[in-house]
Amino acid sequence: MTDGHVVIIGAGQGGTQAAISLRQEGHAGPITLIGEEPGLPYQRPPLSKAFLKTGEAGKLALRPGHFFAKKDITLRTGLRVGAIDRAARRVRLDAAEGPDGGRELGYDHLILATGTRNLVPPIPGISRALGLRTLDDARALRRALDRPRRVAVIGGGFIGLEFAAVARALGHEVTVAEAAPRLMARVVSPEMSSAFATLHRGLGTGLVLGQPVAEVTDGGILLADGTAIAADLVVLAAGVRPNTELSEAAGLPVDNGIRVDARLRTADPAIHALGDCAAFPDPVSGRPVRLESVQAATDHARSIARAIAGSGGAEYAAVPWFWSDQADWKLQIAGLARPEDDSLALTDKLVLRFRADQLVAVETINDARTHMAARRLLAPGQAPARDKLAARDYDLTTF
Ligand SMILES: Cc1cc2nc3c(=O)[nH]c(=O)nc-3n(C[C@H](O)[C@H](O)[C@H](O)COP(=O)(O)OP(=O)(O)OC[C@H]3O[C@@H](n4cnc5c(N)ncnc54)[C@H](O)[C@@H]3O)c2cc1C
Repeated sequence: MTDGHVVIIGAGQGGTQAAISLRQEGHAGPITLIGEEPGLPYQRPPLSKAFLKTGEAGKLALRPGHFFAKKDITLRTGLRVGAIDRAARRVRLDAAEGPDGGRELGYDHLILATGTRNLVPPIPGISRALGLRTLDDARALRRALDRPRRVAVIGGGFIGLEFAAVARALGHEVTVAEAAPRLMARVVSPEMSSAFATLHRGLGTGLVLGQPVAEVTDGGILLADGTAIAADLVVLAAGVRPNTELSEAAGLPVDNGIRVDARLRTADPAIHALGDCAAFPDPVSGRPVRLESVQAATDHARSIARAIAGSGGAEYAAVPWFWSDQADWKLQIAGLARPEDDSLALTDKLVLRFRADQLVAVETINDARTHMAARRLLAPGQAPARDKLAARDYDLTTF
């Protein structure tokens, strides 16, 4: 199919990339990109990094406004899709808007790119905390940081720690409370967690590990063990939930993400899903995984665009990679490890992860060369075994 109407729900990183890639791949039919957030589609990573310091929103746009008109992509933002009628191949908009003033839109092909929203733990007073997901959230945080603050961050994952590093650099007093016994426990090795704990403590940030937050009060936060942390700004960074309700209501299988096959197709052949909201089979383990990264969202989008435009359709097999900037450390992860995987710390800034003696992921700090070598080495089915790596002193760049 090269001329059908493609409707994309969600004008974030992946949805926008899908529209761009469809045109690049020669799709000639109409493309409608619908997003709930107002304004031009933008990138989120700077929201917890440079934007907090500079406030320069202009730099966040994924493409300038004229790009969409030039590529004949109908961009409808500030508009929510409320329902999908799969039998009629139509989506229903929550409000009557757009050039035709209509509430319904037909599609030949639908791409679900609805992303995630912040997980809000059910604890008393949590509505006092500010989240960090959207540009509006980041603007509110910038306003809150306009005078000296005592800041408590709930959650020692990437976003909480990136925010903490910036808030410290701006001179605020910062404490991070993490329920798990170590930082970024879901995604990095214990060695990397510990290196980052040293980094943040060295910056003067307080870290409280292993205690869930029990309450947010008007004086700060209370931990489960009764410890009180005084704060006049509380930031919630306790993870996310995929936006799957729309798909579920349309009868599509959902289980921690919209379930898709190795070609990123949902159970309905006319519907693909991508990025943060999609659970796809990990090409290495075959298990369903849901990744929250720019790489996954954009690579999924390219792969789906090739399939719809008729120039592809191969199984999705990109090596996952991710980065996080905290103070002057750039953490880069190639591959996908699970918390129970083995780790081998070659230095305090380079950790290899193994499953059954097979390399599955490489964590580096400020070492782009090794990271790039790891991305090449970790292609599914080609990752070297531990003894092969040992024979070369674990120098990935020699392969
Ligand atoms: C503060 C922050 C920092 C980050 N830093 C990094 C980083 O350093 N490196 C990295 O790799 N990743 C980072 N990420 C993650 C990365 O931004 C996401 O993985 C990526 O944006 C996912 O793209 P997506 O298209 O799946 O979802 P999103 O970009 O979240 O887009 C989904 C869009 O769908 C819209 N939507 C949902 N439901 C509907 C509906 N019914 N109708 C219309 N629109 C709808 C939402 O409003 C949203 O705009 C960061 C994320 C945040 C929040």
